[in-house]
Amino acid sequence: MNRRNRLFSLFVLLWSVVLLGQNQAQSKPAADLIITNAKIWTVDKSQPTAQALAVLGDRIVAVGSNAIIDAWRGLNTHVIDAGGKLLLPGFNDAHVHFVSGGMQLTNIQLNDATSPEEFARRIGERAKITLKGEWILGGNWDETKWSPPNIPTKELIDALTPDTPVFVSRYDGHMGLANSLALKLAGITAKTPDPPGGTIVRDPQGNPTGALKDAATDYIDKVVPPLSHEQRVKIVKRALAHAASLGVTSVQHMVASYEDIAVYSELLQRGELTTRIYAAPLITHVNDQAKLGIGRAFGGPYLRIGALKAFADGSLGSGTAYFYEPFLNQGNNRGLLSDEMHPVSLMRDRYMQADAAGLQICTHAIGDEGISTILDLYADVIKAHGEADRRFRIEHAQHMAAKDFERFAQLHVIASVQPYHAIDDGRFAESKIGHDRASRTYAFRTFLDHGVRLAFGTDWEVAPLNPMLGLYAAVTRATLDGKNPNGWFPEQKLTVAESVEAYTMGSAYAEFQEKEKGSITPGKLADMVLLSDDIFSIAPEKIRDVKVLKTFVGGNLVFDADAAGK
Ligand SMILES: [Zn+2]
Repeated sequence: MNRRNRLFSLFVLLWSVVLLGQNQAQSKPAADLIITNAKIWTVDKSQPTAQALAVLGDRIVAVGSNAIIDAWRGLNTHVIDAGGKLLLPGFNDAHVHFVSGGMQLTNIQLNDATSPEEFARRIGERAKITLKGEWILGGNWDETKWSPPNIPTKELIDALTPDTPVFVSRYDGHMGLANSLALKLAGITAKTPDPPGGTIVRDPQGNPTGALKDAATDYIDKVVPPLSHEQRVKIVKRALAHAASLGVTSVQHMVASYEDIAVYSELLQRGELTTRIYAAPLITHVNDQAKLGIGRAFGGPYLRIGALKAFADGSLGSGTAYFYEPFLNQGNNRGLLSDEMHPVSLMRDRYMQADAAGLQICTHAIGDEGISTILDLYADVIKAHGEADRRFRIEHAQHMAAKDFERFAQLHVIASVQPYHAIDDGRFAESKIGHDRASRTYAFRTFLDHGVRLAFGTDWEVAPLNPMLGLYAAVTRATLDGKNPNGWFPEQKLTVAESVEAYTMGSAYAEFQEKEKGSITPGKLADMVLLSDDIFSIAPEKIRDVKVLKTFVGGNLVFDADAAGK
């Protein structure tokens, strides 16, 4: 909290105390905004439900019945009749890649192209509106939707894109198709050797077809120009609008670059930051924040830094999550520790340095041994520096060893999880790790039973940013392939109330902001979302179709479905 906000909170608190002793409505300052006739789920246990609320400045000042809140009405109060709809605290996505997500919104979409002709047509259309020399990127094509399901080649698109370099990715991120101009810029010819860990796909004559696998895509990455400042501003603005349209009022940006933070700062100064952002750069840059002398959650209500993102291991799908036992049908492969963990003492040193500087640590860990190793390191830090309110986080925390739930709780580590991944990975997880390990996968219920705090997020751009999909996933655990309509490991389902709490208070706690946001409580920031349907009473499978009607950040209406024509 900055000084001004602290003073303001004190002011609001004092007002509340003064008002308690008075019945005189005329002594209240008039609210700037009143939302009345709503079904409010506050996520505040002292007053779980209400009908109405009043906002003064950017804070909630009163929550209660329509009659009580009406006393805050003044001549200039803007009053919104919610028509009996459900009002929740704004969603706080605890794990996003906000700029990559924004780029995905801007990039070409090829995932639903059902034939190579459609794939090529869309790329040709995009080339017509792309400035000369600018790249066409993204795409997420999926050739399994074509018949026959052949990997595309550059000949499909070359004639349509003579002046536009193209590199469009397969949906799994492990392959991409380059056109001839992109290959030329990257210097890839028949003579280029396959790099370690990568393949240049070739025709029978040995000439590159344009398809590049895994590490071979690095050749392209090296020649794609970095985003200009202006491009980044545009992308962030698009991401902000997208977040507002989905009721996401706060995001926690994992692996934020300094260029990203500079753009957030610029938009903040212009008053254009409509989503609150907590940005966590990579832990390899620990020195930078440490030498500034700033601590965890440093900043103001719209922009904070002071966290670091680290990587313990890889992912389940690519066979690189780090496990005690091998993957099924992959020989001795039990995954890989990340570069940052070679040796493990390197990570320990960085943790010690970060912790000594008061910075928060968020570590990506997916396999059971990867998670366990990070818990060991967190325990080492606590032992070396003593108990403190540090809120260590493990991002994803996907495949837990049975012994570690207890330890997770004892070390007060937050499980920052993405429920949508559960219904996505749930399609194939058992085939990779077997039934026993899958039973402790995305084990949200077991975490809560052990007293572990959950924070919900999406990992956008890896998964959609829409919180309704996350709530749907946590409540139903119905995998995307439709094969588990009653839930994949249904004993791990959460209730709607638990899921909403994880997505609001849980995420706020994970960024040290539970006193500022996460619930509809007098004194807190007026971040709220009005929904089309009551997710507490509709059939759980309908939650994914629920729409956002209005989104408020600090009492400002940042999205209105009426105005957006939705
Ligand atoms: Zn991520």
